[in-house]
This record gives sequence, C-alpha cells and structure tokens, in this order.
Amino acid sequence: NQHVPIMGIPFPKLTMEQSVVLLQEVIDQKEQRLFHVVTGNPEIVMSCQKDAQLRQIVDEAGLVTADGIGIVMVSRVRGGSLPERVTGCDLLFKLLEEGDRKGWSFYFLGADEETSRQAVINIRQQYPGVVIRGRHHGFFTPEDEPRIVQEIADAAPDFLIVALGAPRAEKWIHSHKDKLHAKIAIGVGGSLDIIGG
Ligand code: UDP
Repeated sequence: NQHVPIMGIPFPKLTMEQSVVLLQEVIDQKEQRLFHVVTGNPEIVMSCQKDAQLRQIVDEAGLVTADGIGIVMVSRVRGGSLPERVTGCDLLFKLLEEGDRKGWSFYFLGADEETSRQAVINIRQQYPGVVIRGRHHGFFTPEDEPRIVQEIADAAPDFLIVALGAPRAEKWIHSHKDKLHAKIAIGVGGSLDIIGG
C-alpha cells in the first residue's frame, strides 16, 4: 500500500524529493484544475476529526504531506512507515531551489505587509531564477478578496503560496480554487515569517 492512514487521513509514502517530482509533473501537465497541497501537521489532522468541511478539503487535496516528525513516528506505529517528514517550510525552500533552476513562477499571499515585502526581496536575492508574479499581505477584509483573487488569476502562477495560518489557508484556497488560475496552491503556515522576518 502506498498510503499510511493516520486518524483517517491517507498520507502517501513520499520523500521530499518524490514530492517535488510529483509537483514538477503537475506543472508539466496541461491540467487546468488547481492542485492543492495540504501540509498535514498534527493540528490539521486533529482539526479534521471535528471539522467535516476541513476533512472534505483534505480528502480532495492532490497531495497531503507528512508535516512533522510526530506524523512520521505515528506512521511507524500504524504498521506502514512514512519515509520522512515533508514540512511546509522545507517544501517551500525546495520549490524555490528547484524554481530557481527551472524558472517556476510564484505568488505569495499572507503574513503582514512588512514581512511579505521583505520575504519577496530576500527570495529575489537568494533565488534570482524564480519568477515572482506578485504578493499580497494576509490582513485583508472580505471586501478585498475579489480583487486579490483576480490579481492572482491574472498572475496565473505555477505556485500560489498561502501563509494565512492553518486551517484558514486551506479553506481560503478551497473556496477560491476555481478562480485562482494557479497550477498548485500550498498553505505554508508561518514560513514567510521565517523568510522575511
Ligand atoms: N496571518 C495572516 N493573516 C491573518 C492571520 C495570520 O497573514 O489574518 C499570517 C501570519 O502573519 C503568519 C501566518 O499567517 O505569517 C500564520 O502563521 P502561524 O505560524 O500562526 O500558522 P500555523 O503554523 O498555525 O499554520
């Protein structure tokens, strides 16, 4: 079996490298539907037990990664082990590295304005081959949303990186998935604070 179920969520047995290869394949496909990557941390797994909407979002996701050593350790007790942890933050760094070589495009949504601005400056400097199609801070009102969704759609990035906290990022991605025109969307928690803080 290629999956290990943890509290009802099937985690695929993929290493970081295999996860990046899978995402590369998604980028190379002509598929128009947004591919949602959920970083499955203990918080999300626990929330899914009580939140049916979140559970549905995770079930529909293209990829659920083992976000944290706890998930990997539990998988060993559950009789099928996950090869390694694939955290949102580590995945983002790998995608930036690979994107630097391949010219992948990104849009960054989330974190406060100063962090968002600085994160983009740092990424441009560190990964000059990455194409940054836009960014927006994460403290917007519901009235701002249509404009932001349109801005992302016009940018049509390979990757939409959403740092709004979990599970808000997952719900935001899901509720706008047909309008975003990004190939892949990932909720990454506090990763932009690490890059831009
Ligand atoms: N954030 C945001 N808008 C909000 C609330 C939070 O953009 O309304 C950002 C916050 O600045 C931080 C990220 O979302 O960059 C949340 O990080 P946290 O570590 O709390 O996320 P978690 O690890 O819980 O998913």
